[in-house]
Amino acid sequence: MIRILGTIFAGLLGLAFGSFLNVCLSRWPEGESVVQPRSHCRQCGRTLTWWENVPLVSWLALRGRCRTCRAWIGWRYPLVELAVGVLWAISVWHFSDYDPELPPIAIYAGLIAVFGGMLLCWLLVALAILDLENLWLPNWLTIPGTVTGFLFVLLRTGLESLLPTPYRAQATLRAIGRSGLYELLAILAATGLILLIRWLYWLVRHREGIGLGDAKLMALLAAWLGLPGALLAFWIGIMLGALAAVVLLVILSARRESESWAMSKLPLGTFLCIGGIVSSLWGQPILAVYLRWAGL
Ligand SMILES: [Zn+2]
Repeated sequence: MIRILGTIFAGLLGLAFGSFLNVCLSRWPEGESVVQPRSHCRQCGRTLTWWENVPLVSWLALRGRCRTCRAWIGWRYPLVELAVGVLWAISVWHFSDYDPELPPIAIYAGLIAVFGGMLLCWLLVALAILDLENLWLPNWLTIPGTVTGFLFVLLRTGLESLLPTPYRAQATLRAIGRSGLYELLAILAATGLILLIRWLYWLVRHREGIGLGDAKLMALLAAWLGLPGALLAFWIGIMLGALAAVVLLVILSARRESESWAMSKLPLGTFLCIGGIVSSLWGQPILAVYLRWAGL
């Protein structure tokens, strides 16, 4: 029962945080403050009333247009709100599956996992849209995101290692140390993979194929998901990117503009973020199926 109520609450809270994210996504690229001024129409500048700010509902009621100037608000607003709402609901449902008989420390570890999952989803939706709309993965999101992921995994390891052993401090410190070392190696390996591809692309094509922002995004994914999770996210991202490239080629060649295909830039970061979300929520079962299939 608590799990169901928690999931519904997280979904509603996610709609509200998705709504705030929309404000950020419109204002960050322009260098505007996300606090001041209050929400307004970006076309006619009129300040919105409270009932025009209700996530999802307002957009549907107004059919996606400003009440006064009829400017098209865009699909991104309801989609981002829905995405954060749904992902937060799934995160709470997914990570709150613990036995109530467990000691309090296990419940704290569970809560940390829930909050971590929610924060990571919010961050990845933000980065996905910024790269899609502006081909921009800002350092001030990816670098603090990587540090937060690193600290989050250490905290979780620390709490989990408190669980079974009676001689705590040493076992905990050792567990945290080992987990920190693995994490650093995972971040280095994931970033190195992107830098290697970037360098190979440069050798062959003599122009930039993958941006440094993508390398920092991979570091962020490795910090949160570990190396196997980050590689899964990378693989999903590359598959989605290849699919998008083929679809784009088909559309452009139907319009007889296929030569512009080679010059068009795909937002790889957006696909990596989608891969990261899938890997964060369902990475373990996917990797388990893969390992069984590969006979490992
Ligand atoms: Zn307007």
